[in-house]
Amino acid sequence: MLHTVSIVNGKSLGGAGDSITVKNPSDLSEIVGEVTFSTPETAQEAVQAARVAFPKWRRLTGDERGRYLYAMGEALERHLDEVATLASQEMGKPLAEMKGEVIRGVNLLKYYAAEGVRAVGHVIPSSAQNVLQYTKRVPLGVAALITPWNFPVAIPIWKLAPALICGNTVVWKPAENASLSAYKLMEVFMEAGLPEGVVNLVIGRGQDVGAYLSEEAPIDVLSFTGSTGTGLSVAAGCARRNVKYQTEMGGKNAAIVLNDADLETTLPAIISGAFRSAGQKCTATSRVIVEEEIFEPFIESFIENMKAVKLGHALEHGTYLGPVASKEQFEKVQHYVQLAKSEADVIYENQEAIGYDGYYIHPLIITGVSSDHRLFQEEIFGPVVTVMKVKNFDEAIHLLNQTPYGLSGSVFTNNISHALRFLDEADIGMVRVNLETAGVEYQAPFGGMKQSSSHTREQGQAALDFYSIVKTCAIKY
Ligand code: NAD
Repeated sequence: MLHTVSIVNGKSLGGAGDSITVKNPSDLSEIVGEVTFSTPETAQEAVQAARVAFPKWRRLTGDERGRYLYAMGEALERHLDEVATLASQEMGKPLAEMKGEVIRGVNLLKYYAAEGVRAVGHVIPSSAQNVLQYTKRVPLGVAALITPWNFPVAIPIWKLAPALICGNTVVWKPAENASLSAYKLMEVFMEAGLPEGVVNLVIGRGQDVGAYLSEEAPIDVLSFTGSTGTGLSVAAGCARRNVKYQTEMGGKNAAIVLNDADLETTLPAIISGAFRSAGQKCTATSRVIVEEEIFEPFIESFIENMKAVKLGHALEHGTYLGPVASKEQFEKVQHYVQLAKSEADVIYENQEAIGYDGYYIHPLIITGVSSDHRLFQEEIFGPVVTVMKVKNFDEAIHLLNQTPYGLSGSVFTNNISHALRFLDEADIGMVRVNLETAGVEYQAPFGGMKQSSSHTREQGQAALDFYSIVKTCAIKY
């Protein structure tokens, strides 16, 4: 049985904190592993190890650092099945989807590896004679990465890879219920022969190790992904000490369906956005806003298309969505399901028996709540969708923008004016036309507006700006 602990300076450290036994959320009779948590003292050691490793790592050429990243990508490719299977067993994402996530991790490592030999600045003409003036991006130092459980492979890598290629060293604290996958990933990365202390893993609880990293640890930059509540406190801890930070947080994403939408292509996109990963994506479709003329055919088609959505064991072939990730998730989502059943009109609920004792929540489609209702405003992070009828495009945009979040959103239409107005007027970071709200690409910037983000961006070239700082150099000759 896999037993995970922290890894500092390439060595496993026995944790001094409490331990938990991890059960497979698809089948609670299966024990997946054991996690022993570390305390802030281990995080302190990890930060120290990263600090010691930093001068040598930053002095490597970008090409040399890039070769380590390529080797990490190759190692991950070799262990694709193992990593995906373990993550599926730990947090319930269907295996095919989890494999796609690992492949995305490999692509991210290769993408940032190539950045090692790309330009790190510009030559800017000086106004003075005989002065060479140019900019140069340099690393910040020790980067702390705090990650959630819902993308246990891709999110850590989309922080780790740009942090490393820019020349920073890393202390990574994964979510409690992604600790087994994190340990496995670290083992895989160690096959790339990274120098000691360049990447350190601290298996710990958010309220102590996470809080230590954001409030006290002598770090230089912190990247956080998780809920908005936690993100705001992490941001405050960093801002107080002037530590550079970014927080990517929650969402309450909407898809707008206009009268001229092609339902044949719209429904699969909406269903995928809402129910893949059991709705546990920050970009999941949680609200569907439908123009009144198409409302009835839309609902009919929605129910018809739900026949293909099979809830089941994450490792079984053909499963569309698995269980939610944990007992806490199950209880939280169940609370919203009960609220929906008592205060909303249920349009659809699948009642098929599963055959396993796990954290299964049947996909639920509801309507009949007002726009200020909790079900229309709060992030549920589960397979529950609220549908609302509106008179026209303007009302749809108004409702879409009427939440504190601003992560992703879609419009389904063939009207170019409405599509372009949506792209302009939606107060969200990821705006998509005739595409699901989820499903973003690693080479493009990613992030939200309003309470969904610290207004920074991850992935693509944007990540390189975050994990470095620009120096302006001038030389008189
Ligand atoms: P969470 O906020 O509970 O935890 C995220 C991480 O923060 C974990 O590692 C946790 O241990 C740590 N943490 C908890 N308390 C802390 C504290 N006081 N100080 C420092 N760290 C602390 O979130 P979660 O339940 O793991 O993930 C789900 C949330 O993440 C959802 O809200 C989802 O929308 C969001 N999310 C956002 C994005 C994005 O890019 N915008 C992507 C994925 C998930």
